[in-house]
Amino acid sequence: MELYDVTIIGGGASGLYSAFYSGLRDLKTKVIEYHPYLGGKLNVFLEKILWDVGAQTPIMAEQLLKNLVTQAMTFSPTICLNTKVNFIDKIDEYFVISTEAGEHYSKTVIIAIGGGIVQPIKLEIDGAEKFEMTNLHYTIKHIERFKNKEIIVSGGGNVAIDWAVELLPVAKKITVVYRGDELKAHEAFVNKLKANHIEILVNATIKSLKSNHERTSIEKVIIDQNGVELERDVDDIIICHGYNRDISLDFAESISPERKSGTLFQSIGQCKTTIPGIFAVGDIVAYEDKVNLLVGTFQDAVLAVNSAKKYLQPDANPYAMVSSHNEKFIERNQKVFNGNLVKK
Ligand SMILES: Cc1cc2nc3c(=O)[nH]c(=O)nc-3n(C[C@H](O)[C@H](O)[C@H](O)COP(=O)(O)OP(=O)(O)OC[C@H]3O[C@@H](n4cnc5c(N)ncnc54)[C@H](O)[C@@H]3O)c2cc1C
Repeated sequence: MELYDVTIIGGGASGLYSAFYSGLRDLKTKVIEYHPYLGGKLNVFLEKILWDVGAQTPIMAEQLLKNLVTQAMTFSPTICLNTKVNFIDKIDEYFVISTEAGEHYSKTVIIAIGGGIVQPIKLEIDGAEKFEMTNLHYTIKHIERFKNKEIIVSGGGNVAIDWAVELLPVAKKITVVYRGDELKAHEAFVNKLKANHIEILVNATIKSLKSNHERTSIEKVIIDQNGVELERDVDDIIICHGYNRDISLDFAESISPERKSGTLFQSIGQCKTTIPGIFAVGDIVAYEDKVNLLVGTFQDAVLAVNSAKKYLQPDANPYAMVSSHNEKFIERNQKVFNGNLVKK
């Protein structure tokens, strides 16, 4: 049985910064993440330019994510991907964290599950999933990929229409397909599409997909509009039908932290939950004046890790030394001065 000092559940911004800070405080650290990748919600808006993260202005979300991962790896935490935590119990002095793939053991737990496990609502057409490797998309990573392409955007909410507007300058042709009577997105954005003579098909759904000869990508789309079949040539399809969220995380009754509104974990200060040894950070924690932004996740991480350190070692300093006075960074600083820093 390998026992960790700190196990962080969730590898989004708050979990990643907690992992860095936990290593800085000499704690043996593990991160458990459901997805096969790290970054949490940041993966939903990789192409977004962020202006409100301290000292990082402007920065692409994708770059911020890379920086967060690089920083999280500074002290080599153990990372478990593709692993969903289902249940937490406590035996003697340590927590038992149960996943579909087995048990993990830890002296403390930091809950960093944010908005839960977020997955896009998929197109309900048999065999559609195989085109996710080629030209069926549920998010956009690089706008440039769609240069001179004929694109169908399916959905009528803000995400769908935001993408259609973003693609206006690069795409050859855009068709918006929406099952409702009227697009639900911001009026100004809808008007922009109309002013650019974008084809908007309402009361319409994608009925079937026709692949190319090799069956590797979608070539044509059949759309049902009020019972009438329309056919469109297509290079790429972007589906924005919303997200499913799985926020479930259960605890043994004796160690079940108090929740707010059924989901959020109530902090009693310094990101401690009502159960000693269990801490919560990021979008899943609730306390007065909580900031649900990236900067808020960083502060939460520092508070939670310092609380965990004091829980484990009551005589420890309440906080870590700053970079200039931190022994751990002396050797690393030499590498920085020698120009050996890993290039980003
Ligand atoms: C569209 C959008 C735009 C935004 N724009 C900005 C902005 O411009 N500036 C800004 O500062 N903030 C912005 N935010 C807010 C910011 O993204 C969030 O505050 C931040 O990402 C929250 O990070 P987190 O780690 O708390 O949660 P998340 O990013 O949600 O990460 C939680 C992680 O936990 C994992 N997980 C959940 N349950 C389990 C489980 N049971 N087992 C294992 N893993 C689990 C999830 O898979 C996920 O990876 C935006 C948010 C959204 C949605």
